[in-house]
Amino acid sequence: MTTHSKDPWLLTPGPLTTSALTKEAMLHDWGSRDAEFIETNRRFRERLVEIAGGKGTHVCVPLQGSGTFVVEATLGTLIPKNGKALVLINGAYGQRMTKILDYAGRPHDVLETPEDTPPALGDLETALKADAAITHVLAVYCETTSGIANPIEDIARITADNGRALIIDAMSAFGALPLDAKKTPFDAMMASSNKCLEGVPGMGFAIIRQSALETCQGNAHALSLDLYDQWVAMEKNGQWRFTPPTHVIAAFDAALNQFEAEGGTEGRHARYSANCKILITGMRALGFETLLPDDLQAPIIVTFKMPADPAFEFQAFYDALSAKGYVIYPGKLTVAPSFRIGCIGHLGESEMNGALDAIEATVKTMGVTTGAP
Ligand SMILES: *Cc1c(COP(=O)(O)O)cnc(C)c1O
Repeated sequence: MTTHSKDPWLLTPGPLTTSALTKEAMLHDWGSRDAEFIETNRRFRERLVEIAGGKGTHVCVPLQGSGTFVVEATLGTLIPKNGKALVLINGAYGQRMTKILDYAGRPHDVLETPEDTPPALGDLETALKADAAITHVLAVYCETTSGIANPIEDIARITADNGRALIIDAMSAFGALPLDAKKTPFDAMMASSNKCLEGVPGMGFAIIRQSALETCQGNAHALSLDLYDQWVAMEKNGQWRFTPPTHVIAAFDAALNQFEAEGGTEGRHARYSANCKILITGMRALGFETLLPDDLQAPIIVTFKMPADPAFEFQAFYDALSAKGYVIYPGKLTVAPSFRIGCIGHLGESEMNGALDAIEATVKTMGVTTGAP
């Protein structure tokens, strides 16, 4: 992988390392009403719908801001004021959706499992049968808190069988884990420019079932977060309602070219899986333990338990790796002290091996004999 040589490699959940091609695409200025820019908007929106398998049924509504902005916008737009959500939680991003619902004043129940445990599918079925007021099920595909891959196909099937709508936070999964609207029915899924599609941060988007979105006029609790209005305006003239993130979009368009050249979701999944395997194998050889068993681990980000060796100190470990050019990430778990290392972004075999060499040298210098928790 090539990037600008002085930049660190970001082994994080985002923003991520991007290619030189993607960064170079930003070296221009665009008028937001220019024909060329409008065409770029049309193109990336259409491509995203295709990647999601939603051609003919779903539309893409982009929104300025980080991923949370589009989650907030989607929940506020799709769930009517008299609707009710059931939120499946096994980490911080599920929790965040309940916070968003609190702000928006939308009633909700939660089904929570520990951070290393997938949602209880039987409980989902029971909850839907027991409460006719529930209109929407909210789920996180890859819960980035731990790196767990939640069983989104099963969740989608149970939700559809019970006649409810599904909204998926696919932020850290879209473009790397399979998600096809034809096989996994959803009313909306949200993702952003700067995760597995390897663009730069600044824009989120929702892929929304058109027939559902058409009923959503007047639902939103905030003008700038009204995806119905954003969609209607964009369909009218191909333009954004408010200042678009022009450079982010240009970089995203370039990133999508590279995504397609790599073989789309399958190709990206293959590279991230190889990265993840190198990382886990190398870390286990140093004694480190993963939070998750391999069958629950998504090839996105890996949570390692904090070593028990008293010579290990996370901040010193982090700083030493950063000085060697590798940025990792603190843990976000409530169940156990941990840290995280990502395998997504413009990274391949040589960067993952480089990170492992840096980790091995760092623990040695610290006098840590094993990474075991
Ligand atoms: C990154 C991420 C988000 C959005 O976070 P932002 O910091 O707002 O970009 C939401 N959900 C998941 C699962 C994520 O990984």
